[in-house]
Amino acid sequence: MIWGVLTGTGLDAIRDQLLAAVERERAPLELSAFAVRGEPITFAEAMRGEYRPFNVGDRWGPPWSTTWFHVRGQIPESWAGQRAVAVFDIGFEGQTGFTCEGLAWKDGKPWRGVDPNHRWLPVAGPEVDFYIEAAAMPKAVVSGPEDAPSMIRLREAPDPAFTFRQAELRVQDQTARKLALDFKVLVDLALALPEGDRRSEIIEALEKFAQTNDQSALAKAMSRPSSSRHLIHAVGHAHIDTAWLWPFRETRRKCARTFSTALAMMDEYPDYIFACSQPAQYAWMKASYPDIFEGIRQKVAAGRWEPVGSMWVEADCNIPSGEALARQFLHGKRFFMNEFGYDTKELWLPDVFGYPASLPQLIAESGGEFFLTQKLSWNDTNKPAHQTFFWEGIDGTRIFTHFPPADTYNGDFSAPQIVRSAADFKDHDRSSRSLYLYGWGDGGGGPEPDMIESAHRLRNLDGAPRVELTKAAEFFAAASKEAHELTTWVGELYFELHRGTYTTQSRTKRLNRRAEQALREAEIWSVAAGAYPAAELDAAWKQLLINQFHDILPGSSIDWVYEDAERDLAGVVEVAGGITTGAQAKLAGGTGENVVAFNVNSHPRLEVVDLGDRLRVVEAPACGWAVQSDASVTKEQAVVVSDAVMQNDQLRVRWDKRGLLTSIWDKEAGREVLAPGAGGNLLQLHDDNPKQWDAWDIDLDYLKKEPVDLVELSAQQVEVPGGLRGAVRFTREFGHSRFTQRMVLDAGSRVLRFECDVDWHEEHKLLKVAFPVAVHSPRATYEIQFGHVERTTHTNTSWDQARFEVCGHRWADLGEAGYGVALLNDCKYGYDIRGSVMRVSLLRAPTHPDPTADLGGHRFTYAVMPHPGDFRDAGVIAAAEDLNAPLRIVRGNVPAASSRSLVEVDMPQVVVEAIKRAEDSDAVIVRLYESWGGRCTARVRTTLPASRAFLCDLLERNRTEVAVRDGVVELDVTPFKILTLKLEP
Ligand SMILES: [Zn+2]
Repeated sequence: MIWGVLTGTGLDAIRDQLLAAVERERAPLELSAFAVRGEPITFAEAMRGEYRPFNVGDRWGPPWSTTWFHVRGQIPESWAGQRAVAVFDIGFEGQTGFTCEGLAWKDGKPWRGVDPNHRWLPVAGPEVDFYIEAAAMPKAVVSGPEDAPSMIRLREAPDPAFTFRQAELRVQDQTARKLALDFKVLVDLALALPEGDRRSEIIEALEKFAQTNDQSALAKAMSRPSSSRHLIHAVGHAHIDTAWLWPFRETRRKCARTFSTALAMMDEYPDYIFACSQPAQYAWMKASYPDIFEGIRQKVAAGRWEPVGSMWVEADCNIPSGEALARQFLHGKRFFMNEFGYDTKELWLPDVFGYPASLPQLIAESGGEFFLTQKLSWNDTNKPAHQTFFWEGIDGTRIFTHFPPADTYNGDFSAPQIVRSAADFKDHDRSSRSLYLYGWGDGGGGPEPDMIESAHRLRNLDGAPRVELTKAAEFFAAASKEAHELTTWVGELYFELHRGTYTTQSRTKRLNRRAEQALREAEIWSVAAGAYPAAELDAAWKQLLINQFHDILPGSSIDWVYEDAERDLAGVVEVAGGITTGAQAKLAGGTGENVVAFNVNSHPRLEVVDLGDRLRVVEAPACGWAVQSDASVTKEQAVVVSDAVMQNDQLRVRWDKRGLLTSIWDKEAGREVLAPGAGGNLLQLHDDNPKQWDAWDIDLDYLKKEPVDLVELSAQQVEVPGGLRGAVRFTREFGHSRFTQRMVLDAGSRVLRFECDVDWHEEHKLLKVAFPVAVHSPRATYEIQFGHVERTTHTNTSWDQARFEVCGHRWADLGEAGYGVALLNDCKYGYDIRGSVMRVSLLRAPTHPDPTADLGGHRFTYAVMPHPGDFRDAGVIAAAEDLNAPLRIVRGNVPAASSRSLVEVDMPQVVVEAIKRAEDSDAVIVRLYESWGGRCTARVRTTLPASRAFLCDLLERNRTEVAVRDGVVELDVTPFKILTLKLEP
């Protein structure tokens, strides 16, 4: 009867009445304002500003500007003994604070954040005097018909964007607040429960209260203990995207706001625990907000603030190289250890767009035991079958993994969410615990006081699971101990969504690849030169790592973020390149005329290089250099270019008038590589209109409409007529764009390169290149970090269907018995290999949230490498490494015929990933991995000083000593094993 009224307008009316009773009496606050355009200023600078009178109702804040408000007032004497609060609405929109937010400063120190969920600032009188640093962030548009604004352009917009709606002092009635919260929790719980005794009991209590105002009815309903055996470990959290719809400079301030709020709330709620990831954000606090950092340090020591995560930022895990992921762990975990003496055991990536099958080993190799995400609950095709399970990687490492069943990292601590979280947990028969992350991210300020009040009421309440406020670490320790008969998921945790993020913002992805490569070279040659610029390399690595954040590198941020990222990453390439140049000059022995070739890769090379004025064949040993004598190629190996044919001793390539390859004849194997009748190197332009998440997604139905094949040729020209190299240039114009390709074949090589230069001005298009090949296999192989995975080329199951666009690194291979074709690239990540058609995604053109994403110039190289035999024996991995790391030629004065290899491995499947100085000593770290998926005994020979050698973890902590005899270390290697070898001088 009355329940119907209660759940309709009656309920709202009662709740409004109860809430209205919380804030009583008013006293005015006086405001004055000082507006700052451009970059934020410090508190000290703000104190020198000229403040002008400002009234509630006035407008403030042109986009991306800051306004400092001076807040003054007097708490009336009559309020003595009551809790007074300053209440603000500075123009908030929505709940998560994506627009305007403030940081309140008191006594010259950051005090607490002011956001839609933290509008009450407790004040003590009689004088009230503080400042609010208010940031005006324009609303980004991530999807839909509305145009997304250019944030770069909006920085110049003159008009204020927000209306300051409220600033006043109020009394906050604690008794009324308690009653309002009791009422809300019970109503929400009743709404969440199925028909039954408990639901009826609560409804009766609510009805009685509604009729009689008898609070004892509510108290009685609140007092019945939970009968659930499921325990929810609730962890306070704020997921702060390190850059996304705002640039780094704003995230730094978002952190200051949210972290100061969390610290302040810890003083009000002694049981409140806040988990916080991303050491890069802590490092910002240390540098710019020492008071906040000191507060965090104290709360970590007290066990109230929990560092979580392990990586430097919550990095994308599709695009970064293996070594970059290793450094995410190295720098992330070292920061927590050095600053707090705290060793995190979990990898915490609730929001990252897919997880490669090498991650379990990286977690274990950095001393971790656990993994957390919830992102796969967003899968568009197959929902994960388990939430507590073991995840097994390509090397066999198993990691205890948990997906919090609330399917969110922004939990609101409402009764329905808590009840549903326990009900939806898929592993009740194996475990009786789950994790729950509550608190608003990104500018919502983290947990709000009402959430903790809700936690207190739901702690042990019949109808709900049991709830404890704990650390994440306590959950993982207890759950991993208690859980039994867990299932195992083998292989990648492919994310069935956001498949466009392998391709969007291609310039940033290319710079990322180049920066990874440049740092690898800078480290190796600095070790060799014996002069290691550790501080410079540390800073450059951290610059790269922060730009691998899961909204930057995937391409899902606003234009401003890419303005920053492209500048920062180009800076890394430049710094690392400078270090390499200096080190190589030293190694080459000063000014001279000898040609010295440097090879960063761990296999010896003989290659054609362009010296600027001429081509030349050069040789270099593994991870080393050599002065060149007169290497040459045989007459048979030389390239011959004639009318629409280019060939060497390995391949004969033919093309037609449209510039499409009509044949690639493998001379050694005596077979045709391309599928009969199909054109190779076909550029295909698809319409690309994802229904939502524009920059993020490629929707499966992009395949429903036939692509436009770019077969019109504007120009064709032989550029290099043969000899050591043959090169032909093809130019195509389409839409508003121009695509120039240089097809290159070198003497003796079976790698046919396509060096591309594109002026791209399309909208909502996806450009792919296709190679239909005469190879049949149900599976293709794709390089991932520290190894490779197989994925099907068919659509038998829904899991196969969902993988219509997949992530791979420098190579992908389609192989049948005895023969295969590999595609190589120097900065691409999106592939689809269906049937016998191999395609790479080259460019996209989304318009949200960056309206100009990917427009303009692009350079990239891909290559096709047909090969007899298996990709392992055929040298596909080495060829892909070489495409990404050309030999470097330096003129020098070292004696003729001298050469040196820093590290040589006698087994081709064992690859050197990095050679670097140890973080804490002058030892040298050599990171190796088994790249074929097999086992072997490898002999690692080094010319570096090595009196003792240790196998270490990724944090460079010694595990076991290994014998060094005459510079040789012998290692037993298992499939895809990552080995970190420390050489003590
Ligand atoms: Zn995120």
